[in-house]
Amino acid sequence: MTNYNHAETFRTPKNFPMTEDALRQLIEKFPTPFHIYDEKTIRKNFRRLRDAFAWAPEFREHFAVKATPNPYLVEILARDGAGTDCSSLAELFISESAGVTGEKIMLTSNDTPAVEFRKARELGAIINLDDISHIEFLERNAGLPEIISFRYNPADIMNDGNDIIGRPAEAKFGLTRKQIFDAYRICRDKGVKRFGLHTMIASNERKASTFIYTARIMFELAAQIKNQLGINLEFVNLGGGLGIPYNPDESPVDLKVVGEGVKKLFHEILVPCGLGNVRIAMESGRAMTGNAGWLVTTVLHQKHTYKNYVGLDACMSDLMRPALYGAYHHITILGKENLPAEEIYDVTGSLCENNDKFAIDRRLPKIDTGDVLIIHDTGAHGHAMGFNYNGKLRSAELLIRENGEVEMIRRAETLADYFATLNFPNARLNPATK
Ligand SMILES: *Cc1c(COP(=O)(O)O)cnc(C)c1O
Repeated sequence: MTNYNHAETFRTPKNFPMTEDALRQLIEKFPTPFHIYDEKTIRKNFRRLRDAFAWAPEFREHFAVKATPNPYLVEILARDGAGTDCSSLAELFISESAGVTGEKIMLTSNDTPAVEFRKARELGAIINLDDISHIEFLERNAGLPEIISFRYNPADIMNDGNDIIGRPAEAKFGLTRKQIFDAYRICRDKGVKRFGLHTMIASNERKASTFIYTARIMFELAAQIKNQLGINLEFVNLGGGLGIPYNPDESPVDLKVVGEGVKKLFHEILVPCGLGNVRIAMESGRAMTGNAGWLVTTVLHQKHTYKNYVGLDACMSDLMRPALYGAYHHITILGKENLPAEEIYDVTGSLCENNDKFAIDRRLPKIDTGDVLIIHDTGAHGHAMGFNYNGKLRSAELLIRENGEVEMIRRAETLADYFATLNFPNARLNPATK
């Protein structure tokens, strides 16, 4: 079995951006569990993506707010020029409060309520419709904007799917190829002036070829839209789905290869048909914040039955990915990073659900009760997926600023928060009223 603690085996080393002493001091001030994010890493991730597309006439990353819906983080990315990708009313408000408005926002929702369309129109966001029937729904409920985008589902050319992408035909998202052409025609006839095109076919994908393939599908479609309808698309949005190496054995996406591959297709397909000004957009979430977050948690108990268990003060409501997807998250023990991994543990939370585990049969150095565990790569789809099942409260979020200072950017939930929506006429239920 691989010993992940042995530095030579790392293709992607798993680090933590603070010294042991600094983290122990921080824990005295902010008790575990908490997610902690690193501004420097987020900026580096964004700049690497932007640089890979520096050749494009224009490139825009719309940060997928759902990955880490905290306006402090959205603001960090916005200061570097990123916009947002939203799919709910709350995410639109988060964008607005972080200072992201107008066409920097893309609303890529589905099954969309009218109030969401109205808020998007109020903010001047680009609305990316998920279905042809939404043209009429949008017109009736919020009025048609000057610019509209459509989400394409490429099941017609990927009907077998493949092991990387799955089967688009089974996905609820997007319009068919025929509907796409009809939709642009309808909108043009209704007076819409500017158009974009979107798709999202990858998820946590680390192969550059997948994104280059996506660009080919989209550029060819853009060329056909131009030929058949005379519409010059203003942007092509290649979606999110850029993966990260959760396992130290994995390597990151080679963004330079992605950028170069997309550039070649841009010049091969778009430029010759007069679409050389098309903006390239992406809506990456995980690749911006995933490796910039850590869940810091303390060992409460150990038990030795048929297996060895360590029980943490964090649970699945702080990080659902292992339970939901069987996802790997690397775990290190504060101060024991270089000890040999000679024990095998199931690392669990406290939910009354047997799948509330952060790791199963994980080789780790010997753990003592009270040890601080660092769960890596929790910066995207981590805290964001939290929930209150079993009366569990969601943790705080901290942020390490570029100057090294740590700020609390969201406090932990309290019992008062938990009871706040309950009107039961017994004040003792609500600790806040005591
Ligand atoms: C989830 C989502 C994203 C972001 O996905 P990542 O894997 O975090 O990059 C982007 N666009 C849409 C429409 C999504 O649903």
